[in-house]
Amino acid sequence: FETVNVLGLDFIKATQAEFLEQLKRDSQTKDDRFIVTANPEIVLAAKDDTAYAKTIRSADYITADGIGIIKGAKILGDPLPERVTGYDTLVALLAFANEHQKSVFFLGAKPAVLEKVLAKVKTSYPDLKIAGSCDGYFKDEAKVARQIEQARPDFVFVALGFPKQEFFIAKHRELAPAIWMGVGGSFDVLSG
Ligand code: UDP
Repeated sequence: FETVNVLGLDFIKATQAEFLEQLKRDSQTKDDRFIVTANPEIVLAAKDDTAYAKTIRSADYITADGIGIIKGAKILGDPLPERVTGYDTLVALLAFANEHQKSVFFLGAKPAVLEKVLAKVKTSYPDLKIAGSCDGYFKDEAKVARQIEQARPDFVFVALGFPKQEFFIAKHRELAPAIWMGVGGSFDVLSG
């Protein structure tokens, strides 16, 4: 995709639908992918934290998950088509995984929230394979990383909040040729 630089980050010029088509193609390859759906909190945090900014810039796709970014791009004279949110992308990828019997690793959120998410996935997306899961309050990060590696998932959704989730993905993405995405509070929304 072409990109537009707003506040130091290169946002992809893609509609939600175009982005999903690309991710579906990516899921057929053996490469890992890292998605950041950058909401205003993430963008502001990256402005003040060079290590975090560098981590976000290492993503394959940065989407504009906030109307402020859309407005900013318009003011710069290089508009972005629309918001591409983390939650919408998550739900669309769950549907895709269900349709194509893809496997998903769910990492993050409180144990009770994660349980509800898994129960909901089992009923709403019965053909999706749950490759594994781990709540977001683990002690041994290396062990979690190994768990993901051994699960060989097609998708890894990481709900550790920012900046933790992006640091986690950037550090471990090479362990699984999956599509990795930080999903912030989306498990809480999905469980409700
Ligand atoms: N979270 C987690 N481990 C942590 C910190 C947060 O699993 O060490 C989870 C939290 O339970 C919630 C999600 O990350 O499900 C998002 O957290 P928060 O609302 O604090 O972050 P934001 O939505 O602002 O990114």
